[in-house]
Amino acid sequence: MSPDVSAQVEYRIVRNGVVREVERGRILKTDVCDAHPELLRAARNVGRPTKEVCPICDEGRLVKVTFVFGAKLPAGGRCPGTAAELKKLCRRPEPVLCYEVEVCPDCAWHHLMRKYPAGGPKVRRKAVL
Ligand SMILES: [Zn+2]
Repeated sequence: MSPDVSAQVEYRIVRNGVVREVERGRILKTDVCDAHPELLRAARNVGRPTKEVCPICDEGRLVKVTFVFGAKLPAGGRCPGTAAELKKLCRRPEPVLCYEVEVCPDCAWHHLMRKYPAGGPKVRRKAVL
């Protein structure tokens, strides 16, 4: 397993752990379903739908939202509205860091699923989508 893949597995394990704790009543739903309004807006407008149903409310369909951070980007990160825009951000000459978050627009559950570097000089990378 490449480090990137094992990191993804780790995020998944952490996420499933949180879900279990909510099911057991050890963590309040309100503590985990607190997506920032900005994140919810991004989820509704530019989120990429997944086939997965929200593990918390069992109703909403999860969507993926990617935030890109880096030099010359807004402090809160840029949230690309299209796959093409994301690809372009990942090809910037300045290195960037992408955060992929799963969000439930229904109950505001959110969790980091993936974090990966992109951009940078003279690095050829396959589009990460
Ligand atoms: Zn939900």
